[in-house]
Amino acid sequence: MSHRELSARSGIFPVVLWSILLGLPLTTAQAQETLDIYLIDVEGGGATLFVSPAGGTLLIDTGNGGQSAARDTRRIMDAMQDAGVTEIDHLITTHWHGDHYGAMQELASQVPVRHFIDHGPSVESSARVAEFLNTTYRGLYEAAEHTVVTPGDRISLAGINITVVASAKRVIDRSLPGGGEPNGYCADYVPQNEDNGENAQSVGILAQFGEFRVLHLGDLTANTEFELMCPNNPIGTVDLFVVSHHGQPISNTEVLVHAVEARVAIMNNGTRKGGQPEAMQVLFSAPGLEDLWQLHFSQLSGQEYTVPGLFIANSVDEEQPAMPIAPLVPRRGAGAPPRPVHNGEANWIKVSGEADGSFTVTNGRNGFTKEYR
Ligand SMILES: [Zn+2]
Repeated sequence: MSHRELSARSGIFPVVLWSILLGLPLTTAQAQETLDIYLIDVEGGGATLFVSPAGGTLLIDTGNGGQSAARDTRRIMDAMQDAGVTEIDHLITTHWHGDHYGAMQELASQVPVRHFIDHGPSVESSARVAEFLNTTYRGLYEAAEHTVVTPGDRISLAGINITVVASAKRVIDRSLPGGGEPNGYCADYVPQNEDNGENAQSVGILAQFGEFRVLHLGDLTANTEFELMCPNNPIGTVDLFVVSHHGQPISNTEVLVHAVEARVAIMNNGTRKGGQPEAMQVLFSAPGLEDLWQLHFSQLSGQEYTVPGLFIANSVDEEQPAMPIAPLVPRRGAGAPPRPVHNGEANWIKVSGEADGSFTVTNGRNGFTKEYR
């Protein structure tokens, strides 16, 4: 059989064959064709790594600080190593909460970060955040590039269109290709209490690689979802929706979640953060949603509202003998039982999107992969 016949039958076969003969990792060949997205487990915080087909990188948020900074930095760097990248071209910090910027200093001390992107100063009066922004963060971005984005801005990553759709509680005022139709869910929207904090300030983006579209809105809350999505939906539909705000029900309203008709949603929840029944019901009833994946089993879901274990990437350090059936009602303060801890080995959920819009999702814990053609 000639080489020509091999190529005609299957273009990938010679690549696979030569990779095996030369001992090269197959991911090198794959990384040139897909937009890869790692949903990194930072225990109910945010850390999402995008790696473009050309090897460009966008990291959205850097997980938790304090005693968790080293752990979350290691988990982010593990994903970078898996992707074969050594630098962060763009770091978006969606907003100034500790579960989103916490490990930034630690990460930036180990990995070059070229461009820092945010919504502007914090709107909350926290001395700790002000201190971080005025000293640590300023020092980092003055040695690199820094952009305060506004809706409509584009972030340059070769081969990927990234458009900012929300920032500093403002939303994009024009429709993107594929968007612009009236949003039928707006009529039933019940306005929520005004959110004057940082969540509503979140930088949100739409990333597009060919036909493959991903929506990531950080911790954007309900009223700003309404502002973004009503009366017309400027986004249209997406393939992947990164569930907002760790799956909490003060975000993830139907005007957003039902209107974008995502095929897959992935929730960066914690063991007891996000996944409350109200949010799960919105997701499970979303038109077109084929699967919901989660970084953790949430006790706030219980078995009643969670997804099959195949779709859950992480357990906890000390597993309980049985999974609770009823959702736990969130409790705060002295009476609240301690949260299950997970400082040991962590697993990501990895998405590989192709330019024709098809994609695969893989659970790093059990290797379970599903193709969405
Ligand atoms: Zn958060």
